[in-house]
Amino acid sequence: MVRLILVLGDQLSHDLTALRAAEPGDVVVMAEVADEAGYVQHHPKKIALVFSAMRHFAEELREAGRDLLYTRSDDPGNAGSIMSELIRRAEETGAGEVIATRPGEWRLIAALEDGPLKVTLLPDDRFVCSLEEFDAWAEGRKELRMEWFYREMRRKTGLMMDGDKPAGGKWNYDHDNRKRAEPDMFRAKPMQFTPDDITQEVLDVVEARFGDNFGELHPFWFGVTRRQALRALDHFVKYSLPGFGDVQDAMLRDDRFLNHSLLSIYLNLGLLGPLEVCERVEKAWQAGGVPINAAEGFIRQIIGWREFVRGVYFREGPDYAQRNALNHQRKLPALYWGGETNMACLRAAVDQTREEAYAHHIQRLMVTGNFALLAGVNPAEVHEWYLAVYADAFEWVEAPNTVGMSQFADGGVVGSKPYVSSGNYINKMSDYCVGCSHDVKARTGPKACPFNPLYWHFLNRHRDRFAKNPRMANIYRTWERMKAVEQSRILKEAEAILDRLSTEEVV
Ligand SMILES: Cc1cc2nc3c(=O)[nH]c(=O)nc-3n(C[C@H](O)[C@H](O)[C@H](O)COP(=O)(O)OP(=O)(O)OC[C@H]3O[C@@H](n4cnc5c(N)ncnc54)[C@H](O)[C@@H]3O)c2cc1C
Ligand code: SF4
Repeated sequence: MVRLILVLGDQLSHDLTALRAAEPGDVVVMAEVADEAGYVQHHPKKIALVFSAMRHFAEELREAGRDLLYTRSDDPGNAGSIMSELIRRAEETGAGEVIATRPGEWRLIAALEDGPLKVTLLPDDRFVCSLEEFDAWAEGRKELRMEWFYREMRRKTGLMMDGDKPAGGKWNYDHDNRKRAEPDMFRAKPMQFTPDDITQEVLDVVEARFGDNFGELHPFWFGVTRRQALRALDHFVKYSLPGFGDVQDAMLRDDRFLNHSLLSIYLNLGLLGPLEVCERVEKAWQAGGVPINAAEGFIRQIIGWREFVRGVYFREGPDYAQRNALNHQRKLPALYWGGETNMACLRAAVDQTREEAYAHHIQRLMVTGNFALLAGVNPAEVHEWYLAVYADAFEWVEAPNTVGMSQFADGGVVGSKPYVSSGNYINKMSDYCVGCSHDVKARTGPKACPFNPLYWHFLNRHRDRFAKNPRMANIYRTWERMKAVEQSRILKEAEAILDRLSTEEVV
């Protein structure tokens, strides 16, 4: 009997388990459906990226001789959801079973498991660490820390290893990766691609159907095929990787990408695999031109953080994205959707997000994420924003980064302490504060940088939870040393900022 082989928009890998399981006579099903494009208000660039990459992948499957049924978003018969498309295709073909690779989101797993069709879910083995392996590693540990997991992955893959010791003698060169960046007109930009006819057609559809979503569709220059993703990888390794480590945490107003790779979009769609990317980076380091802090720092993000957050997402279960350990309830301020703000750092991060569907890690963590956490925004709203606005956002990787790392809403599963800072950190790592109408050095007063009073307000309101954390003891000592009158002035000014956020006044 015919079986349907489901390929989702972030499963565009020819070695996908579902495709490997296909037998002659089976039919591959791909569908651009309203449910997936609309369960959050995705950035138009993200929708175009996924649809165009799907159409290109479908072409490759056809060329490889696969039987394929592809539904476009504007096809009149489009049934609107993955499950209803499968039902329609099962009726058309007489198929009695669906073979799928396990989706990267609890919502879709439930939709497939609870539907009326017989569905076999195969593991997604496009990762270095299987979910069973992660669970075995996590089992019995009091807390899960990325660094220990990462060392296991280094041993497992042999990447940058000297026998059983880390190359260079240290596991982690993060200390060397916290420098400021200077503007450099010769710094390479990420590889850009001209839209072909398939992409152009997708852009027209997205413009017509999703043009009102937050985000600018044009210019669109993401790669949409594996071949292009490989070129982007080559380009990154050659031009940006050597300086990647040094400026990994830096932010510059006029340089949105610095030395970052932008490879997350290709990795998360399945156009590149994590091991091949890391092996390419290791090879460049072995050949000479790449410093160890750059290669190690990059490889850690992929076999460390990326694999770690996936393990956490699936281990923690379907309620993970709804957690709210700090009981934060504020509405997401309008400035996140482009509303007016006097804060130069937030304006830059949001403008960039609207134009590029991209921000690098420190912009996500220490600007937009930090402010939402200090302001006590409901983490579910923060989660929805990140899931919508970034081209690389898929729940298995976005939720643990947002709900866990950035908002501490999982109570400390991903991180041992909240990532909060005053304006001082942003000033140290960026040039945003130059020319901001707020004064980053002022803790109180009409010009004070809002991060400053909000930072102390956050620490004060969550004292019971964090004061005993050894990594935060020094900060609390600084707070205790302040005069009571200074403390109360700070808290009062923080309250005034929070009130202004509530009444949607410009901050
Ligand atoms: C609040 C918040 C939300 C985030 N949401 C996403 C998301 O939806 N999708 C996503 O892929 N990443 C997310 N990240 C992680 C990280 O910011 C992005 O992976 C990175 O910015 C992608 O840009 P890049 O490819 O230029 O990364 P680079 O700086 O070049 O890093 C190389 C690669 O390492 C991986 N990586 C780096 N950090 C992480 C991390 N913390 N978790 C997982 N992988 C990582 C990515 O695959 C990335 O391509 C989020 C981080 C935060 C703080
Ligand atoms: S002064 Fe404060 S608000 Fe302004 S850019 Fe610096 S950190 Fe951001």
